[in-house]
Amino acid sequence: MKIAVFPGSFDPITKGHEDIVKRALPLFDKIIVALGVNSTKRYYFSQTERLDFLHATFEHEPKVEVDVFQKLTVDYCKEKEANFILRGLRNSNDFNYETTIAMLNRDIGDGLETLFLLTSPEYSYYSSTVVREILKGGGDGSIFVPEEMQDLLKEAMKHKG
Ligand code: ADP
Repeated sequence: MKIAVFPGSFDPITKGHEDIVKRALPLFDKIIVALGVNSTKRYYFSQTERLDFLHATFEHEPKVEVDVFQKLTVDYCKEKEANFILRGLRNSNDFNYETTIAMLNRDIGDGLETLFLLTSPEYSYYSSTVVREILKGGGDGSIFVPEEMQDLLKEAMKHKG
């Protein structure tokens, strides 16, 4: 079985993330979209909200599983018998950051490989950070997130005050 873990904060998931998963689907038997929990990090959307967004987005993709993990990514991959980490690359900042992490993960993860897909140009400027900034400013950020979760996002925003 070829299994990949796509780890991230997904605060919130964007069309950029969704696009990476969909384009990687033909390469794998299963992709686990895994919400990494970092207890020192503050998130805008709660874990439950972020998970609900992920479940709604991939509801109709039988090869996609949604999960949460707390441990090191390499240990989580081992537990899930995943042979690959999947990540997306938008620009040289992503490249510099991601290559370091990928090499460290290969060292401590028994040769665990990271597979990178380049962003689709139409989503190359999408990030969870800009979506959050638009939402916080009262703008319509829903156009940047997967269609399947736009209603959930609007609902969640009603409770953000
Ligand atoms: P993290 O908190 O680990 O950076 P993110 O949720 O921001 O997690 O992103 C997870 C992965 O998705 C990263 O590899 C990131 O580069 C990639 N990614 C984010 N936005 C896009 C996009 N618009 N196009 C392609 N890849 C993206």
